[in-house]
Amino acid sequence: KDLDLMPANATCTTCPYCGVGCGVLASPDGAGRLKIKGDPAHPANQGRLCSKGSALGETVDSDGRLLAPQIDNRSASWDDALDLVATRFKDTIAKHGPDAVAFYVSGQLLTEDYYVANKLMKGFIGSANIDTNSRLCMASTVAGHKRAFGTDTVPGTYEDLELADLIVLVGSNLAWCHPVLYQRIVAAKNARPNMRIVVIDPRRTATTDIADLHLQITPGTDVALFNRLLSEIHQQGAVDADFVSKHVTGFSDTLDAATSADAGVTGLSHADLTQFLNLWVRTEKTVTIFSQGVNQSAQGTDKVNAILNCHLATGRIGHPGMGPFSVTGQPNAMGGREVGGLANMLACHLDIENPDHRALVGGFWSAPAMPEQPGLKAVDMFRAVSDGRIKALWIMCTNPAVSLPDADFVRDAIAGCDFTVVSDLTNTTDTARLADVVLPATGWGEKDGTVTNSERVISRQRGVLPAPGQARHDWDIIADVGRRMGWQNAFDYSCPAEIFREYAALSSLAAAQGKDFDISGLAELSNSEYDALRPTRWPVSRRDRPAGRMFADGRFFTATGRANMLPVEQATMEPSTPRQYRLNTGRIRDQWHTMTRTARAPRLNQHYGEPFLEIHPEDALALGLKPAELALVTSDHGTAVLRVLITDRTRPGTVFAPIHWTSEYASAGRICTVVPAITDPVSGQPDSKAADVLIAPYAPA
Ligand code: SF4
Repeated sequence: KDLDLMPANATCTTCPYCGVGCGVLASPDGAGRLKIKGDPAHPANQGRLCSKGSALGETVDSDGRLLAPQIDNRSASWDDALDLVATRFKDTIAKHGPDAVAFYVSGQLLTEDYYVANKLMKGFIGSANIDTNSRLCMASTVAGHKRAFGTDTVPGTYEDLELADLIVLVGSNLAWCHPVLYQRIVAAKNARPNMRIVVIDPRRTATTDIADLHLQITPGTDVALFNRLLSEIHQQGAVDADFVSKHVTGFSDTLDAATSADAGVTGLSHADLTQFLNLWVRTEKTVTIFSQGVNQSAQGTDKVNAILNCHLATGRIGHPGMGPFSVTGQPNAMGGREVGGLANMLACHLDIENPDHRALVGGFWSAPAMPEQPGLKAVDMFRAVSDGRIKALWIMCTNPAVSLPDADFVRDAIAGCDFTVVSDLTNTTDTARLADVVLPATGWGEKDGTVTNSERVISRQRGVLPAPGQARHDWDIIADVGRRMGWQNAFDYSCPAEIFREYAALSSLAAAQGKDFDISGLAELSNSEYDALRPTRWPVSRRDRPAGRMFADGRFFTATGRANMLPVEQATMEPSTPRQYRLNTGRIRDQWHTMTRTARAPRLNQHYGEPFLEIHPEDALALGLKPAELALVTSDHGTAVLRVLITDRTRPGTVFAPIHWTSEYASAGRICTVVPAITDPVSGQPDSKAADVLIAPYAPA
């Protein structure tokens, strides 16, 4: 019925929030907003939308948008602003070398934006100092995939979740963070009541509502649990010996490490642990979904490999209804991975430390300079800003003064940087307020390009509304700066289709190097074919050949063609001191990142109107905290003031707070101020789930 109300010429586009990548039908309502419906033809959502996606139409009006460039808080012409950016970057490079500049970008950028930014930094400036807020979201998965498979390959599809007999969710509140995927699982479970669902999460969440078994694990002990599982797989004779002998290396060493693991640290009861082990071992069609509870950890990469080890030992990968499945947080986190948006990657999954790959990409771009070493990952990048190694910084489409750990340190680093540029929708974010130059960028509903979702499906985002004021597309801004820095031909793009064709052509060279990422079949798309592109899963080596299932033939992208099982050991969990609580941070259902879009929709602000602290009743009693009072949360790094929400959803000794609030919406609600910048040594991903904090009733001075 709702679809009948949509004009027949509604535009098919893609939701700008989570990595599910739902298709959206959008049509101007004549009053500056959009009518929105789920696209029934999009394979990710088949017409469904969650609360955030449904409210998109309320977020697009131009109130509060930055309409012209600003230099030192004064309106300026594009020519003056971009000349200043190009000159300051060139001068800094001339005086201090290419590693004295950096770009910090975002999983909200479209693939075409990302590609041009990456090309400018890595091929022309000659530094690898481009990193992304996706470092906070899935870098541990990228590193784990590369260690196991040789490439960052997500093997599964959403359909696998509906075909599975057992779904295990690890560190994932799918019901709130990937709601349409959760809806698909609920529908599948209703249709097939024998389907079993296990949720592994220290917190009781909306997702645990559908769990047959909730393992309220001690935070950070996932490696011990999955090592115990691997040992059980072996003891119960469930190892797929044929698969392992033909397609896997490292089995014996990994099993030895797993066998010596102590599952006692998980804190699970014998009955719960046994039930989980038996379910997993005896159910062939098992999908293990993992997300930020795994990735955002000082041991995130090892956690990922502990999960992959179990699937490799049983051969439960590359077939319908089974496999490990990482779900990405952002709409184009996957596109950013593919395009080389991480400081340690090149485009098309090529490796920056491989001289052949550098030569291949450099030759394709006719690049004057290619970096030989990885650049600085997000946390280290802002340390380098703070100590003056980075003197010119361009932040695109993200708000690190709120979202990075140790956020006050990051804020002060940006404020002290010699020259900072921010491209964004507004000049009011905590980060944009610190910039020397703010450039008005177009946003969702205005932009045109592609994104890749968590199941490797490339979809088009299409512009429906005109750009407000003088706002320009990110790819256009970056390319203009590239030309003003002297590289006319390399950045002479006229439209996103042209960028996409270049990127697709580069992917054919990557595929020839044995890489998984291949969209060469799309390299000849005309502009009108690109405009009309329907959701397409990669690899696409030919347009008439649909993507096959990854790893179906047991071949992986390592030098040997075999997957690697890796011995991993549970890190020692340092107990909090008696007065400290372990803080877990995460998303809530109706807000997104730092609220730059979702806060514009009144109905989304009704879910939770202010930042809060979930605390167990026993702890609240001990601290003298009453419901709805304010609590002061402190660590060595900063403070936050949050509304107390007393609930047994958290375990005693642990608390939870949402990541979204900025000083724009709650003056003391930036929770990342108290989170230390501890990172996984392999992936560089911050541990955002285990900060030790002190809590007290808030007494205003
Ligand atoms: Fe958008 Fe994710 Fe909701 Fe789909 S599930 S509508 S992609 S926020």
